Amino acid sequence: MNDLFSRAKADLPSLIELRRGFHRCPELSMQEFHTAQRIESMLDRMGISHTRIGSTGVLGVLQGSLPGSRVIALRADTDALPIQETAEVSYRSQIDGIMHACGHDAHTACLLGAAKLLAEDRNKFGGEVRLLFQPGEEIGQEQRTSLLPEHWKAWSGCLVCTRLMKSLPAPSA
Ligand SMILES: [Zn+2]
Repeated sequence: MNDLFSRAKADLPSLIELRRGFHRCPELSMQEFHTAQRIESMLDRMGISHTRIGSTGVLGVLQGSLPGSRVIALRADTDALPIQETAEVSYRSQIDGIMHACGHDAHTACLLGAAKLLAEDRNKFGGEVRLLFQPGEEIGQEQRTSLLPEHWKAWSGCLVCTRLMKSLPAPSA
């Protein structure tokens, strides 16, 4: 566990950059095309297979190499909001009138960070981890695209969602 935590901490600078990259290029609900491509190319680099769900949803599937049939799902939403960013930060939104004001840039980066660690550890677990990158959460479309009905009928397992808490201190890198 300590090893996992220290590996996560070591990845922190690149995860911050990743999150800022998503923050610079926000996309509205159901138009998350570049975001989905970015996610897919990162999953490719990690050796995680994936499928596009609808236009902009991505489902990654990571199989553990030990015996086992349990499934756990980790989920992040990917869309941004029609809000003008006013913050003067280096990573401010490059798209007029759209910004990641709800933290989905961080949700997505966190899930990719977890995916990387899990992919490195795939020989330490059995069963399957599903990585859900859900579009359209801000307009309530995520169930429709989702990843839920067709893909989860035969599934019994656990679903973990990402959320941010500003009150928690950030770990130092
Ligand atoms: Zn949201």
